Amino acid sequence: MTNDSRLAKLPSVDKLLSEENCRKLADEYGHQITTNAIRSVLDDIRRTCRDNGASIPTKEEILERIQVVIAASTNASLKPVINLTGTVLHTNLGRASLPAEAIDAMVQVAGTSNLEYELESAERGDRDRHIESLLTALTGAEAATVVNNNAAAILLTLNTLALNREVPASRGELVEIGGSFRIPDIMERAGCKLVETGTTNRTHLRDYERAITERTALLMKVHTSNYAIEGFTQSVSEFDAAELAHKNGLPLVSDLGSGTLVDLTRFGLPREPTVTSIIEAGADVVTFSGDKLLGGPQAGLIVGKKQYIDAIKSNPMKRALRVDKTTLAALAAVLALYRNPDTLAERLPTLKWLTRSSDEIMRTAEKVLPAMASALDGVGSARIENTNSQIGSGSLPVDLLPSVAISVTPEPGDGADSRLRRIAAAFRELDKPVIGRIHDGTLIFDLRTLDNPSLLTDQLAQLKTRLHPSDH
Ligand SMILES: *Cc1c(COP(=O)(O)O)cnc(C)c1O
Repeated sequence: MTNDSRLAKLPSVDKLLSEENCRKLADEYGHQITTNAIRSVLDDIRRTCRDNGASIPTKEEILERIQVVIAASTNASLKPVINLTGTVLHTNLGRASLPAEAIDAMVQVAGTSNLEYELESAERGDRDRHIESLLTALTGAEAATVVNNNAAAILLTLNTLALNREVPASRGELVEIGGSFRIPDIMERAGCKLVETGTTNRTHLRDYERAITERTALLMKVHTSNYAIEGFTQSVSEFDAAELAHKNGLPLVSDLGSGTLVDLTRFGLPREPTVTSIIEAGADVVTFSGDKLLGGPQAGLIVGKKQYIDAIKSNPMKRALRVDKTTLAALAAVLALYRNPDTLAERLPTLKWLTRSSDEIMRTAEKVLPAMASALDGVGSARIENTNSQIGSGSLPVDLLPSVAISVTPEPGDGADSRLRRIAAAFRELDKPVIGRIHDGTLIFDLRTLDNPSLLTDQLAQLKTRLHPSDH
């Protein structure tokens, strides 16, 4: 039989649509999606039949393929994963993991809420009021507002306070955070002119002083969160910069990057400037992220003097950068946890993970190892190894946290690298994908961020099937 005459035997779109299975699919996913899936499966069969001489599948097989195509096209692509990369605040994995309190709060307001509605007066309210008093209480600032992320916070602050005017900033602080975010670029988009001050390694107060003209709008400080300049260095403190700014009738704006509301040294972590300390030093506006060390949802927090925050709130760009009700709910819940710093390390996943001792992580490793070794039997070996985690998201860049990992090496021999990549891919293909990191020919799963070992071990039977498809 020629290919063409075989293809004539393919059922038509209408014929398939009238099949019970497809009618059910059409009820659930709609006529359009079902018809498109049928067409795409039939096209595919015609192509492989013509090009590779493949045989025509049975009607049952065709129906099953339609089902698979629909499932693939309607499955959510954004889904939970298990982050065992060793980077606690991993930007590509969604940064901070939210505490249960924040998740509950998001669910509560996901329907209708009093987002911008005053229940007492039945008048229109301001969405910022749900977080403003918490933020001012926790930072000592007079006023606060919130936007989509810290990049938006900087953009909005500069656009409000420095449009068409000059902003001196230290050459040593013109940071790039991930490919597309650079302080000089954001200043340009905010409509202000950067005046580079000092040198890469040293900036003195007199450098800022010389940069001030009648066109100056404000002085800017940026926390160099993702690198450290070491050796012969000099920078101007917030305190001195604020004094100089105020002497010239200008505000000082400080981008704190990660920013933290509590002194991290009380948890045994390296020192980071707190928002409160920068406000106390005299900064008039401070911006920082919601989903870095703060441990909350993606957001950009702006705190400071009321006159500047009021101006920022009434910039029309604020509307384009504002956050939604679920973000506000999560943020308020996270900020509420900060009222009691003593319970913070238990309740906030970011802080819980950052403060986990290597002894505790070792106990998790001992629980996980046997199941891991057995799942990898025949393809690789697993063992416990000391490693270092990092905080991530440009926070506390030079500090590494001692941790414990399960390291996986493939059976020795040819193609070990590609076999290791295959093992890593099998972990990523699990129902709840598990993400590690490959270093020096081993696949490392840092267990610092694994709260519940069974989340991993319960999936290992599935992993075995993926790694040994021939046995099944
Ligand atoms: C991370 C960071 C930003 C950007 O913050 P996002 O919340 O990611 O937009 C800006 N400035 C500094 C110094 C940072 O560390």
